[in-house]
Amino acid sequence: MSITFVPAPAVPPLDPSVDHAIQAIVTGASTDATCATDLAAGPWDFDARPGYGPGSSMGDVIPTGAPRQGELPSEYREASEEELDGRIRAAKATLGDRVLILGHFYQREEVVQHADYVGDSFQLATAAKGRADAEAIVFCGVHFMAETADLLSQPDQAVILPNLAAGCSMADMADIDQVEECWEQLEDVFGDLAAADADGRVPVIPVTYMNSSAAIKGFVGRHGGIVCTSSNARTVLEWAFERGRRVLFFPDQHLGRNTAKAMGVPLDQMPMWNPRRALGGSSAEELLDSRVILWHGFCSVHRRFTVDQIDQARTDHPGVRVIVHPECPMEVVDAADEAGSTEYIRRAIDTATEPTTFAIGTEINLVRRLAAQYPQHEIFCLDPVVCPCSTMYRIHPGYLAWVLEELVAGRTPNRITVSDDVAAPARVALERMLAAKPPAVAGTR
Ligand code: SF4
Repeated sequence: MSITFVPAPAVPPLDPSVDHAIQAIVTGASTDATCATDLAAGPWDFDARPGYGPGSSMGDVIPTGAPRQGELPSEYREASEEELDGRIRAAKATLGDRVLILGHFYQREEVVQHADYVGDSFQLATAAKGRADAEAIVFCGVHFMAETADLLSQPDQAVILPNLAAGCSMADMADIDQVEECWEQLEDVFGDLAAADADGRVPVIPVTYMNSSAAIKGFVGRHGGIVCTSSNARTVLEWAFERGRRVLFFPDQHLGRNTAKAMGVPLDQMPMWNPRRALGGSSAEELLDSRVILWHGFCSVHRRFTVDQIDQARTDHPGVRVIVHPECPMEVVDAADEAGSTEYIRRAIDTATEPTTFAIGTEINLVRRLAAQYPQHEIFCLDPVVCPCSTMYRIHPGYLAWVLEELVAGRTPNRITVSDDVAAPARVALERMLAAKPPAVAGTR
């Protein structure tokens, strides 16, 4: 697994900051559109309010009991961008090797520039594992990512999420109580779910995407299942089909469907499991005939991409190369030239030898950063509306400055800890994934 050190372009060819783009829209300096002008405000304006806040997940239902963030001290809320930048640099210099800052690809530029490593969730958790000397790991991403870092780091290392309200609406769609209830209903249909048939296969293998809570990873580990990433989903499904008649895949229906379809699984053998309906909304016969049971979850960032956007890109830019993330709906993946993980997209651009026009279907912070890093290409986001991930947006430089200065003062705020009873089976599910020997980068077509 390669880890990408944060590059610092000597002369950025354009300002890649989504924050600045939204400010320009709100002040009228830009004629672009944003899905929520509230995004120009500080995330602290939303910490005490219900919901995920402005951005792509603002229409999603937040679970009762989702973590909330206490009030950020006013000195951080009122500081200018330049002041926060200086305070972050000073605190980081004081802490030295005692702190490791991780930045997800989808984070705002104002935060990513301070990261020691930037990557996807699993790359960053792996980076945390490789730095056992760091006392604190500040994870600039969302809640499930910090949990995964806690699973893979040393017990005495503190994993810190700068804003506790930075959840993930897709991960939240697979609630552990609903998953346990689903498993009981599947037992009613299939009988003993641990009993193998004459071929050595059990009725159902649970598979969870990395973008899920530690509780779900633990559930999967306890029931003979495995974790996957968007880079290795096919390898993991092959692993599961060697051991089970069918797969229960959560939380992202689109990654499950796109991957299984590319493997030749017919759509009519992929029923959806809606946790609010008996047997998930299918008949027992449909479940008995199934190959992949898809949990009713989705990413609201990637659900924004449409076939119409691809058609428009092809009209406006003849010869455009369209690459989308496999969390996009099936018809979007089918209409694109390629689909692959974040690392696949980055590498496709990095290895293009001729100046190329790329239309990319993934989170806009990453797309704008790629456009700045590869000025020899024309790179734009398929979605013309500026609409970042609602929860990644919650990590503002103000929170990063606050947690770093708290560490300097000897305090450890916002620590994310996975309990031992969950952590042990969750690690088993992760280890199964590593043993399945996934390819580092995978895409389709
Ligand atoms: S981009 Fe989608 S999957 Fe990733 S953190 Fe945001 S809502 Fe969750």
